[in-house]
Amino acid sequence: MRPEASGTLRSDTGVTAAYWGVEDADAALERLLHLGATESGGVHDVGGDIRVFDAVLTHSATCLVSSRICTTRSKVRNGPLGGLLRFSKDDGSQTRGGRMEIETIDLSFMGEREIIASFLITGDSSAAIVETGPTSCMEELLRGLKGHGVAPEDVAQVLLTHVHLDHAGASGNLVEVLPNATFYVHEVGYPHMADPSKLLKSATRIYGERMDELWGETRPVPEDRLVALKGEGEEIEAAGCVLTAHDTPGHAYHHLAFHEPESGALFAGDVAGIRLPGQSYVRPPTPPPEVDVEAWNRSIQEIRRISPSAICPTHFGRFEDVERHLSELEQRLQDWLLFVEERIGQGRSQEEIAAELKDKGDAEMLAEGSGPENSGRYDLAGNYEMLVAGIARYATRRREKK
Ligand SMILES: [Zn+2]
Repeated sequence: MRPEASGTLRSDTGVTAAYWGVEDADAALERLLHLGATESGGVHDVGGDIRVFDAVLTHSATCLVSSRICTTRSKVRNGPLGGLLRFSKDDGSQTRGGRMEIETIDLSFMGEREIIASFLITGDSSAAIVETGPTSCMEELLRGLKGHGVAPEDVAQVLLTHVHLDHAGASGNLVEVLPNATFYVHEVGYPHMADPSKLLKSATRIYGERMDELWGETRPVPEDRLVALKGEGEEIEAAGCVLTAHDTPGHAYHHLAFHEPESGALFAGDVAGIRLPGQSYVRPPTPPPEVDVEAWNRSIQEIRRISPSAICPTHFGRFEDVERHLSELEQRLQDWLLFVEERIGQGRSQEEIAAELKDKGDAEMLAEGSGPENSGRYDLAGNYEMLVAGIARYATRRREKK
């Protein structure tokens, strides 16, 4: 994995870029100049392998040339190297200027509001997003960035919880649109981002003719733009904060959750379930082919260990009643598994089981104070036929193993 730049510097010459990896210094400066920067202070050795240069950057150059270089757009008051006062190699936190903010971009999936989210993190130097959504929502994503004053060039990191099309489907198309973004994905999902053909085959088995309408075109992400993570707590410096990546299988084998300790937010993808804004009901997203309830339970324990102050599921938003949310998910997963297993044992078809589970699920949702219109909205993130198919597959595999 490439090392990440760990700080930004400011100077009255406009923008100072800081980076390390001396071997790259001249090439990096050249690249910045090529993008329209004016060199004003030259390259300075700061000590160790850190070097700094001053440059007045045009907007298009005000971005990460690579993740080894950090720039900032902010106007500054100090002398050319005044920013050094805020810089420390060993303690990145001193260098993080500007307020980090997290925004939710509603991708208006299928014209419905608040079904699929992309989370935008902005700091004073750049921006990062968690989840791209599908290609069918890409225009909404770009509109959302613009609405928050973020130029496509500013997006330096794209963090993907898993490769499913509703979470990461737009990545290949975004490679050109977000020219400076590096895409982070679980190592098991990595090959499917580089070559989505198997993923598309598997998705076509589930969605059939609706593939294009739902997700739009899915393209590969070039490997030089992809970084594989194990989810062992790797730290990713992004937009003035540091996110940690956590392996959280269950919904998929290759699932990550990203924790941002400053805000306490955990970007949970699908591992913390589906819960729409204003609702308390948590629906477990259990589509085929990789659902693993045992692994999922361990992931819920892992989330408890991380102890976030808010859970941000991609479907949808931000919830602060973390423990209540997690125990509801945990109980419902167990309950649904038994419910489906029992009916498979009675020889019921998956359609019959799906209809019964829908009755049960909707009744529980209404009992939690939700309106009946929300059942269809939850369906957009995971409908009962699909959820039963996923659980049935898991139950069958488990039986075969015994
Ligand atoms: Zn999803």
